[in-house]
Amino acid sequence: MVYTLKLRYKGITLNSDQINKLHLYFGTMPSQSPIPWFDDFVGVAYRYYDLRMNVVPLITDRKQSASLWHDSIHWWVDPSIKIRFVEMENDYWFIMGSDSQKPDTNLAFFKILPKSEHYERFKAGHGGEAYLRLGVYAQKSLSDVKKGALCTCDHEAQDHDEGDGDVCLFNSCKCKIFSSFQVNLLKRKKTITDIKFLEEKDVKDDPLAWNCLTVNKYSKTE
Ligand SMILES: [Zn+2]
Ligand SMILES: [Zn+2]
Repeated sequence: MVYTLKLRYKGITLNSDQINKLHLYFGTMPSQSPIPWFDDFVGVAYRYYDLRMNVVPLITDRKQSASLWHDSIHWWVDPSIKIRFVEMENDYWFIMGSDSQKPDTNLAFFKILPKSEHYERFKAGHGGEAYLRLGVYAQKSLSDVKKGALCTCDHEAQDHDEGDGDVCLFNSCKCKIFSSFQVNLLKRKKTITDIKFLEEKDVKDDPLAWNCLTVNKYSKTE
């Protein structure tokens, strides 16, 4: 748009074809390209660790977590890191983005997640700031864990029958297969001080959340 205005100032008038070509031309410049949205992670953990609450996007692959940090998050400018939680009925949109010292490899994160106890605890307790860390998430099966490890059904590994497809032995429990997971928090961290909880009707006033929902929701449902 700026370019069109400058040309008009010099007394040149452009027809719409020429304007489209101009946009195409300038559209190929790296500084003009939008930051890609990244949602290839399994979820977000909220943990107390080092005094502050930690917001931990969970990655299943250790190598991927390392390159995400090196290529993108490492270059984020801490005071510009933003996290937005857009609350729907049962789910919420986790949205995270930042200005980067290396804009070419910058990414913005989003994920639609079910509201959980940990999420509600973070919402109530973050106090305006949090640490951002990545976590490596590993699913554990019955053979990987010690007897006392807890299943997601809240019963221990030793209460699950190895001979019968891992079913939980408690009569009252419907758990059919032992499942547990382990999260390794990576040490490197960034400090986030711009955290907002929004309802969908407020999203228009927030550039990051608006951009996210426009690209990943509104443009897809129409
Ligand atoms: Zn179980
Ligand atoms: Zn159980």
